[in-house]
Amino acid sequence: MAQAQLSIDLAAIRANWRALADLTTGEAGAVVKADAYGLGVDKVAPVLADAGAKRFFVAIASEGVTLRRVLGEGPEICVFSGHMKGDAEALRAANLVPMINSIDQMLRHVEALPGHPFGIQLDSGMNRLGMEPSEWAALREIALAQKPRLVMSHLACADEPEHGMNALQLRTFREMTDDIDAPRSLSATGGILMGPDYHFELTRPGIGIYGGLPFADATPVVELMLPVIQTREVTPGESVGYGNAWVARVPTKVATIAAGYADGIHRALAKKGYVWAGNTRCKILGRVSMDLITIDVTTLKEVPEQVELLGQKQSVDTVADAIGTIGYEVLTSLGNRYARTYTGA
Ligand SMILES: *Cc1c(COP(=O)(O)O)cnc(C)c1O
Repeated sequence: MAQAQLSIDLAAIRANWRALADLTTGEAGAVVKADAYGLGVDKVAPVLADAGAKRFFVAIASEGVTLRRVLGEGPEICVFSGHMKGDAEALRAANLVPMINSIDQMLRHVEALPGHPFGIQLDSGMNRLGMEPSEWAALREIALAQKPRLVMSHLACADEPEHGMNALQLRTFREMTDDIDAPRSLSATGGILMGPDYHFELTRPGIGIYGGLPFADATPVVELMLPVIQTREVTPGESVGYGNAWVARVPTKVATIAAGYADGIHRALAKKGYVWAGNTRCKILGRVSMDLITIDVTTLKEVPEQVELLGQKQSVDTVADAIGTIGYEVLTSLGNRYARTYTGA
């Protein structure tokens, strides 16, 4: 095997969406922004549509244009960033539903695309996107008269169910929307797991579909296998890699594997990271290079042709923990140099 192999289990993606949809009291949508969290929207979105997802979410209009090409007419495609300057033609041509985030966006929308569907995004406390209560109060009658497809908000702390912010945002969202007819949505993956109070008519799972926390019961989706290029014995006092960052104290067998930070394997993984050779954990030695990583294979009876960075032994969240980030970033960083295979379609 000459090239690092990233395999993406579409059956696991389908099962994870199904599980989150089953937990949802109303309808479950699917968030496929950032190329389906780095896993390939052209492959992932049709599987989700086939599993029953009817409403998809992307971050920006150009992602919606791509997704429309992938899905064809039918599924609704909502754009979190709303109607930004220059978006009108894309929104119209691909029949996208912008989540309007401000009075400015609302004006832009009705001027450029009168009668074109839209949704509303409200800020219930996260202070990132959406209309604040006062803005909403000023606009709501006009907006509601045009029958928005969805009125949504987003939780800041849903990965910490006990956090007081959740109840506060729920209360704020209810105060802003309890007397409206439009379908409502508050929860992503974390909110789904907090229970029906948070579900309203539609949920918007993302990371859980792709096998990441906070959906602890998710089926793993990605497997990343890296080929061993070469092995060598180093003697005490010899160093390995850039900057002589690791120096052998005892005789050590070192394997060099074919992937690096250009493939989305963060350099910070050098300090605390491991790869797996079968059931044996092998420490990363020295620095992560652009295209290469060196690992300790001293205890292995036989050095395998490939080692696992992500898969059954090590989840995206294990790797994320080691480098002080979240599974979302590990997934969306996965590079373009892997040979990608999709299984379970
Ligand atoms: C990314 C995103 C989601 C999906 O969140 P997950 O935590 O990945 O489930 C839902 N809603 C909004 C507004 C988002 O930005």
